[in-house]
Amino acid sequence: MNAPAAMQAMVLDAPHRPLELRSLPVPSPGPGEVLLKVRACGVCRTDLHLVDGELPEPRLPIIPGHEVIGEVVAGGEGTPQFPPGRRLGVPWLGWTCGECEACRSGRENLCERARFHGYTLDGGYAQFLCADARYCFPIPPDIDDAHAAPLLCAGLIGFRSYRFCRDAGPALGIYGFGAAAHILAQIAAFEGKQVFAFTRPGDRAAQHFARQHGAAWAGDADETPPRPLDAAIIFAPAGELVPTALAAVKPGGVVVCGGIHMSDIPSFPYRLLWQERVVRSVANLQRRDGEEFFPLAARAGVRTEVELFPLEEANLALDRLRAGRLSGAAVLLPG
Ligand SMILES: [Zn+2]
Ligand SMILES: [Zn+2]
Repeated sequence: MNAPAAMQAMVLDAPHRPLELRSLPVPSPGPGEVLLKVRACGVCRTDLHLVDGELPEPRLPIIPGHEVIGEVVAGGEGTPQFPPGRRLGVPWLGWTCGECEACRSGRENLCERARFHGYTLDGGYAQFLCADARYCFPIPPDIDDAHAAPLLCAGLIGFRSYRFCRDAGPALGIYGFGAAAHILAQIAAFEGKQVFAFTRPGDRAAQHFARQHGAAWAGDADETPPRPLDAAIIFAPAGELVPTALAAVKPGGVVVCGGIHMSDIPSFPYRLLWQERVVRSVANLQRRDGEEFFPLAARAGVRTEVELFPLEEANLALDRLRAGRLSGAAVLLPG
């Protein structure tokens, strides 16, 4: 297909303002880039942090969205690997320099000059976007567009968090059971882990949702799990969960903070960290995370729960996410 001249996009002009539906020129792909027609774009908590002014120095105005499933419409010079019609996923990490110390030491996720879709590069809350082909992922054919979209960040960042727990014992705690957790719990269960899901106290619906998606046990975040945990991942952006999770993991256990933003961590007694417990964060993703994750998600038969919204209802989807009134992931369809 040929791209039209104009497209609809939801644009953020400044934090604390609703996104605005606008007609913009369809971008044209530069060397090494592909132009994609967006088929679906997931709504990630990071988009909420962006809109709520919790991320430093976004490029403004910006089109949010970094869980994009699209179809190649045209390729710039040097992209023969992705002919028109090919379905690709576009994640958060959109470009790295390849030259800085982080890039040269195999840690492109920490590149000093990295660019990110929906933050410093335009994202998928639009009918079309351009993406550097080197950072796009082929998506297994057995997952449809809307259900594949949340894999691009919720899935990938969850998997990167899981990498740091994978070699620990079988008891894995997950604090905050939303989009990332419901994907990761299925992967972890597929690999033989016993998943303990912790939700906001009293959130029976979320606990039921967790048990439906791979959790062996689900309870309140302030509950003591029925057995000590080998590792824990915190997806909820609540710093007070760090000492809570540390208290639940065994000596030598790791607590991984999977979010890009978290409220302040309260002070806690050293004995919670003592005995070689570790607290760490994960940042962004590396391309090799995706190369491993997407085939694994297909093998594990991961099912994502999605709520569909038309593109122009992106503000409603963000409001629902902010209010905790989504089970699973919101996905925008540009129509
Ligand atoms: Zn770099
Ligand atoms: Zn994200």
